[in-house]
Amino acid sequence: MICAPLAEPTLSQARRAMLTAAARADIVELRLDQLDEFPDADGLAALLKDRPCPVIITNRPASEGGKNAWPDEVRLKVLQAAIELGADYVDVELGFADRLKRRPSTKIIVSYHNFTLTPLDLPAIYSRIVRAGADVAKLATMANSIIDNLRMFEVLRHASVPCIGLCMGEAGMISRILGRKLGTMLTYAPLDPAKPTAPGQVSLDDMVGLYNYRSINSDTQVYGVIGNPIAHSISPHIHNAAFRSLGINAVYVPFKVEGDVCNFIEAFRGLPVQGYSITIPHKQDAMRAMDEVDPVCRSIGAVNTVANRKGRLVGSNTDWTAAIEAIERGLDGEGLPGKRVALIGAGGTARAIAFGLKAKGANMCIYNRTVDRAAKLAEEVGCEWRGLDEIERLEADIIANSTSVGMHPNVDATPVPRSALRPDTVVFDAVYNPVWTRLLCDAEEVGCPTATGLEMFVNQAVQQFKTWTGLEAPRELMELVASEKLAETAHH
Ligand code: NAP
Repeated sequence: MICAPLAEPTLSQARRAMLTAAARADIVELRLDQLDEFPDADGLAALLKDRPCPVIITNRPASEGGKNAWPDEVRLKVLQAAIELGADYVDVELGFADRLKRRPSTKIIVSYHNFTLTPLDLPAIYSRIVRAGADVAKLATMANSIIDNLRMFEVLRHASVPCIGLCMGEAGMISRILGRKLGTMLTYAPLDPAKPTAPGQVSLDDMVGLYNYRSINSDTQVYGVIGNPIAHSISPHIHNAAFRSLGINAVYVPFKVEGDVCNFIEAFRGLPVQGYSITIPHKQDAMRAMDEVDPVCRSIGAVNTVANRKGRLVGSNTDWTAAIEAIERGLDGEGLPGKRVALIGAGGTARAIAFGLKAKGANMCIYNRTVDRAAKLAEEVGCEWRGLDEIERLEADIIANSTSVGMHPNVDATPVPRSALRPDTVVFDAVYNPVWTRLLCDAEEVGCPTATGLEMFVNQAVQQFKTWTGLEAPRELMELVASEKLAETAHH
């Protein structure tokens, strides 16, 4: 179930919000502690009468995140009134459950909140909740690390009474989505993302439209992108749309991993996760957690794709294949062997593309601002190198920019002056924010065939999808979603 938490200042506003929410959520939670004024019995009765959907009545003390500081007797009196009025659920904090008189028409949620951490003795807390007579046990604790979610998942896995288990905070965000796979009774998703009632909540729109929450069940396969930061990644949009369109029972979530990525990967082996995309800053370190990597991936020294093959984690790198595919399309049927490539940059992306071009037999020269880095990469790959200040004199069939020059906000910058572009040179730019960089616009004007960073991005997503599912990815859909999302997030 999806529960829309309502934190309104007056009962009449709560009533209106409830009508709106009922159209999209399965149940609403009325946070009475968020009211500006104490709710009178008649007002509460009117609210519950003819309610458009089931309701949870909650009235938190300040110590557990409530806004109002009403004395406990007063607070509990309102909850008791809600029970007498036949509210579907009343949520009461552990320690206060025995102060309410039960009625068969109302189920009691006994809840535990911890806004500081996810305690190690979570199972013991769960047992205390059950002993307190809970119809539904609720545990909401702060995740300080993404690994904390696993403790919550264990409680959900073994729960003997209906249980709502979630971790709060950005690190706990995945529990709000994946909890359904582990059997949580509901997730809280606000209608208005600007009005969350707890940290880390995912909006109702995203829960349904992006993460396909209603289709998640115990068989749902889990995929995700590991990075830091990761909140603005467009990969969840692309992969979830692809899963949905092919009717694949899978969900793709962002994994924000701070600290050692190998610890995360090891800890999450048991969930299990069927596949990862890996992005900055974890591509290199993640290699150590792999059971197997392909040879090009090993020479690049970075993994951006992980497939779980019956428990064995197999790492590969689609950055290079994705860039090469985009460049080859620009070549319009001609092969890369023997082609002169000016590869600009010596960072992570350049490294992946350089080893890819080498494997394809291209004749490469690496240009970089910091010449030592150009020399080092050129030595490893076995090719020429020069300083970026020599770019004007380049002689190449293909120019591939893998620096961040031209990326938002410096959209007027270009690593190659227009005067150095020839109409028969294929120009590829890895930058995708914006998609049409100054370099690519200059190249189009000069008449060069071009290949965009968006193509590379979609290529790698398509290749990852195939690696994981063995199926052809819905490329057009993925490209459409990627362009829409990039346009939305452009300049952020
Ligand atoms: P990185 O490892 O940090 O490398 C950055 C590169 O850019 C280095 O060569 C650096 O030169 C150069 N650079 C940065 N600022 C510069 C400036 N003002 N003038 C000249 N050179 C400059 O970054 P990365 O991960 O390789 O990413 C590079 C770009 O590729 C980013 O825009 C990223 O968004 C894009 N990318 C796209 C895709 C895709 O799918 N399309 C995938 C991955 C990355 P120095 O060595 O001199 O610092």
